[in-house]
Amino acid sequence: MKKKIAALAVSIALALSAVSCGKAEKSDENTIKIAYLPITHSLAVLEEAEELEEQSGTKVELVKYGSWSELLDALNSNRVDGASVLIELAMKSKQEGIGLKAVALGHHDGNVIVVSNDIETAADLKGKTFAIPHRQSSHNILLNDALATAGLTVDDLTVTELAPTEMPSALASGQIDGYCVAEPFGAMGVSLGAGKVLFSSEELWEDSLCCGLVLTDKFIDERPEDAKTFVEKYKSAGNALDKEKAKEVAKKYLSQSDEVLDISLRWISYNDLDITEETYNKLAEKVKEYGLSDNPPAYEDFVKNDF
Ligand code: ZN
Repeated sequence: MKKKIAALAVSIALALSAVSCGKAEKSDENTIKIAYLPITHSLAVLEEAEELEEQSGTKVELVKYGSWSELLDALNSNRVDGASVLIELAMKSKQEGIGLKAVALGHHDGNVIVVSNDIETAADLKGKTFAIPHRQSSHNILLNDALATAGLTVDDLTVTELAPTEMPSALASGQIDGYCVAEPFGAMGVSLGAGKVLFSSEELWEDSLCCGLVLTDKFIDERPEDAKTFVEKYKSAGNALDKEKAKEVAKKYLSQSDEVLDISLRWISYNDLDITEETYNKLAEKVKEYGLSDNPPAYEDFVKNDF
């Protein structure tokens, strides 16, 4: 009898563990893992995560990273289903054979060239030191565009890659003379009094692309319905992000001061986040012109609009 009870206990335990395993797998299947950096450029995805769970029960697990290289590593190895990422980095990955699709923009405009207070024109950047977050970025393209207004190129100054968080203090200490980076780090330099805006992105490049929402081919192929819902809800979350809502989301995820956010959010918008062929092709031209890549992916291979 005792043996029977023991055997029964074991089988109940096994059954329970099978149930709990099943549950864990099920909740994973329903979760969409999205990587992001805590910047204003990723607010649409942060806003969407909450809305999607409320409306459809699909849970978005936001995975925060401290640098583009760490985020890209997770994206390229399918540890996440997608990311809000600098589009040039995703283009480079695609070019190297990683299965990714860009499905929407991260934002419109929203970048500035910040320079020290003694710099008055682009020509004054000659011989100076300028920081960008990564060679594969619209910040690098915008620097090239700014220099071109004065007939200069990147060969006329020192370009250095710095972590975004270090840029405002590097400008304040005189280690660099200017920078261009995802927000709110430009606004932070302005708010500190370390520098001023020399150009906003739209003055240099109309309808510029910067960050994109990127999904892995694996996720799109294995969960087409979830991918479709996710992209649709993402775009409506972007349309709903007015200045007030954007500030509310930014305060929750970015831990920045009101002053920095008020400056930064004046420069950016999140409505109509489709990636059009015209704007993408303009980006691809700039990528080639400024030497970021000789062979950027074609629109039809990299951008997916047909969900
Ligand atoms: Zn961006």
